[in-house]
Amino acid sequence: MKDCIFCKIASGEIPSTKIVDEEKFFIIKDIHPKALKHFLLITKEHYALLENQSEKQASEFGEILASIHKYEKILGIENGFSLRINQKAGGGQEIAHLHVHILADY
Ligand code: 5GP
Ligand code: ZN
Repeated sequence: MKDCIFCKIASGEIPSTKIVDEEKFFIIKDIHPKALKHFLLITKEHYALLENQSEKQASEFGEILASIHKYEKILGIENGFSLRINQKAGGGQEIAHLHVHILADY
């Protein structure tokens, strides 16, 4: 999607260090961390909201969430973490491309 910062990061147009780079998503550090450890899991497909997901995307996204624990070590969050998905402006969503905040404060 033109003019979407996360699509540009996904394609490499904006350079970034992808700590995890999988077929359907990647994980980068948040540029303005709001916790000691703050990552963004970003889907490679562009869509803004959970409610926009096709059945296939919803199923794939469920698998993505269930797989996050596999990356605990590489992210240094073995002691636990929280996930946050902001939806729409009133929910604090600034970037209209689905992403999951992965936060840990230890
Ligand atoms: P939202 O408010 O949409 O849920 O979250 C957007 C997040 O993206 C914010 O926490 C913000 O700090 C982060 N962010 C915005 N622009 C960039 C960027 O260019 N690179 C990275 N790594 N994070 C960004
Ligand atoms: Zn996008």
